[in-house]
Amino acid sequence: MSVLVYAENAGGKFKKSVFEAVSYARAVADQNNTTLTAISIGDVSADELNTLGNYGAHKILNVSADNLKNFVNQAYASVIAKAAEAEQADVMVISNTFSGRGLAPRVAVKLGAGIVDGAVSLPETANNKFTVKKTAFSGKAFATVELTSANKVIALIANSYKVTENPTGAKAEVFSVESKESDFKAMLKEIIKSADKVSLPDAEIVVSAGRGLKGPENWGMIEELADLLGAATACSKPVSDAGWRPHSEHVGQTGIAVSPNLYIAIGISGAIQHLAGISSSKVIVVINKDAEAPFYKVADYGIVGDAFEIVPKLIDAVKAYKA
Ligand code: FAD
Repeated sequence: MSVLVYAENAGGKFKKSVFEAVSYARAVADQNNTTLTAISIGDVSADELNTLGNYGAHKILNVSADNLKNFVNQAYASVIAKAAEAEQADVMVISNTFSGRGLAPRVAVKLGAGIVDGAVSLPETANNKFTVKKTAFSGKAFATVELTSANKVIALIANSYKVTENPTGAKAEVFSVESKESDFKAMLKEIIKSADKVSLPDAEIVVSAGRGLKGPENWGMIEELADLLGAATACSKPVSDAGWRPHSEHVGQTGIAVSPNLYIAIGISGAIQHLAGISSSKVIVVINKDAEAPFYKVADYGIVGDAFEIVPKLIDAVKAYKA
């Protein structure tokens, strides 16, 4: 047995979720007295690849081909499955990111593996069982899943495992696989970046606002607070439905699920459909003028008052703290 972890890059750089996944995968390998191989696909420098060794990868495989520069679900899943076979890996760890959510089930199908998506803790391996805790019902509950198949795929939720330094000194090596474009069901031709902002699904801090902000012209203070905190901006569904903010910021049951360390909800009532997307946040701060707003039931900290008074004061306080 061995463990394989997929290291997803964004523009040639690894995200924090990768180091979490590598740290997690190394802990799984240690539980089973085995080794960890990390695989990266696309254009990543040797220095960047070698950082995977800082978090416990014993071996680092680099797959770089012209037709694999951009993420393509089928092609990447096929490469990961081939690497798993070559490394005789039976546990695969993939971050539950936007692309990871598409990749993990495909890898599982290719390897005939059981899959647990949305994992939040290390597997329990007592009594020869392999059980993993995961989120269920859009984050409203937890479930424990037992994987009984020989091969197993674990899709790990961001911010659910601590990045742990564990240097091995491993250096990246080339892993060659044949990838024919004619086998791809879809090709990604171009990525158009909307703006140089913190990516919402991976953000450690999210500043989110709702209809209480009254109109799109009032988002300046939300963006300023987010910039100061190094946070991503998000919103409730009615806000994106009204075109005040892009749909990519819509959080909740029908939008993006986030799991930041800090979620600041401003002028959002806390409807169940919104909470479904944010309930695995570590700390929730609510700013709402209605002390009875449902959001306060799940808040760790609450400030009852007018957002138009409180947010500028918060901005001043953060600026003063940083000065
Ligand atoms: P509102 O409910 O209008 O609440 C605004 C809040 O702002 C109020 O609590 C008010 O007290 C407060 N406020 C007003 N003025 C101020 C001020 N000056 N300062 C501070 N606070 C102020 N919603 C989602 O967000 N995500 C989803 O994915 C989603 N999916 C849905 C799916 C279905 C099938 C359905 C039926 C609904 C879904 N909704 C979703 C909608 C959801 O039910 C709520 O209607 C929505 O979340 C409410 O958005 P809101 O809190 O911004 O607005």
